[in-house]
Amino acid sequence: VSVVAKLNLDRIIGKHQDFPKPGILFRDINPVFRNPDALKFIASEFSRKFSKTRYDATAGIESRGFVVATAVGMKAGKGVIMIRKVGKLPGPTIKKSYDIEYGNATMELQTDAVKKGQRVLIVDDLIATGGTAVAAAQLVEELGGKVAGFGFVIELAGLKGADRLRQMGYRVESLVV
Ligand code: AMP
Repeated sequence: VSVVAKLNLDRIIGKHQDFPKPGILFRDINPVFRNPDALKFIASEFSRKFSKTRYDATAGIESRGFVVATAVGMKAGKGVIMIRKVGKLPGPTIKKSYDIEYGNATMELQTDAVKKGQRVLIVDDLIATGGTAVAAAQLVEELGGKVAGFGFVIELAGLKGADRLRQMGYRVESLVV
């Protein structure tokens, strides 16, 4: 199943040159989300790849990661944690800033979202440099959680973000490399 389906997934992903800035080839996952078979495929591929991994919750990184996290979480029977851009979450939170291509970004997590010892699978649509993923892991770990692994629909291998995570000792699974 998966070889053929993977080729299709790659074909469904939109490619937009010079978005949002000159020089960036933007991978648009929206057509994948709009396709019910592709969405189901994402959920079953991740549940298969992480079938031997123990985890308690799925965390999605704003905003495309939320859709991935919901698909994966529902299939696996886990709840979903939102790792959000700063300023969106009420109540006590922790924040983590990290470098992006031009400047700086900050992600935020509610302090009661992760319990000590809880194992969290972190997912997003795409990994590029890995800066966002590292910040997400730091947020989970700061609350005493364990990162059970990372799942990305798209890995831009040339930017070495997934390698960086693996070198840090994390398990990383990508569907389209
Ligand atoms: P990074 O922190 O460099 O790994 O960037 C990952 C984040 O930026 C993810 O949340 C992606 O959705 C987004 N992103 C980075 N590069 C691209 C790209 N070429 N196409 C689509 N999204 C991207």
